[in-house]
Amino acid sequence: MELIRGAEQMHAAALQARSQGRRIGFVPTMGALHEGHLSLIRIARAQCNWVAVSIFVNPLQFGPNEDLARYPRTFERDCRLLEAEGVQVLFAPTVEEMYPAASKTIVEVQELSQRLCGASRPGHFRGVTTVVAKLFNIVRPEVAVFGQKDAAQVAVIRRMVGDLNFDVQIAVGPIVRDRDGLAMSSRNRYLDAAERKAASVLYRALLRAQQMADRGERSAAVLVEAARSVVAEEPSARLDYIEAVNPETLEPVHDVTGGTLLAIAAYFGATRLIDNVLLFAGNSRAGAG
Ligand code: AMP
Repeated sequence: MELIRGAEQMHAAALQARSQGRRIGFVPTMGALHEGHLSLIRIARAQCNWVAVSIFVNPLQFGPNEDLARYPRTFERDCRLLEAEGVQVLFAPTVEEMYPAASKTIVEVQELSQRLCGASRPGHFRGVTTVVAKLFNIVRPEVAVFGQKDAAQVAVIRRMVGDLNFDVQIAVGPIVRDRDGLAMSSRNRYLDAAERKAASVLYRALLRAQQMADRGERSAAVLVEAARSVVAEEPSARLDYIEAVNPETLEPVHDVTGGTLLAIAAYFGATRLIDNVLLFAGNSRAGAG
């Protein structure tokens, strides 16, 4: 595996791979890799014969009072995991490389960027779309793989790719969970034992709504309320939002019909976690892509 720090070098390596007829798959990450990330790399590997992974803790997507400074960084371990997955290139630029002092451009998907996490994390999705647009231009992937774990991020990126005519196919991998259902996340490292135990309530809440949808409940308000009442059983959980929305527009829905995104965010201590499930009236699939 080649480690590349510079955007120009990354671009050159990708162009060379393309000229040799390679199909480029790309998985952007912020590092502190876990099985969720590795599952996306395997999806890229199955569709492409040249896989690039980026590790970049993107300051633009963190709010002023968020965890940028203490975000987990496990670079040596990440490199070993990526080697073992047979990744061709790790692109790990510095902040100065990605955002030179002279840079003035941001990419923002309007409206969608204000919904779900965008409402509680102002500027977050603008930071995501700006960095992902830059990474797409640097890596020029044919396929880029994202996790359903960040369902709103998927919607925002798909909209950006459509609106700006990016020549890339977006693939989405299902949510990888721990044994008790907690969605894997780099931020799970922040949790102490009691918080870690409490955090499993998120998935239980989503499952309750899923079971009710399976049995035919179509009212979004009823399903949201059922999930909310499960979260309320865990006094240490502080709910940020729980919403039933259209997975493409992220607009709230009244009735669950053909695939409604039920998304949740909550704090356990100082740690904010997110999760979601796709609901189908009469049938639902946990974290399906
Ligand atoms: P991050 O490093 O947290 O920015 O995540 C990088 C990519 O991995 C994003 O596309 C996430 O949606 C995805 N991802 C994170 N956690 C999981 C998970 N538990 N299952 C599947 N994909 C995930």
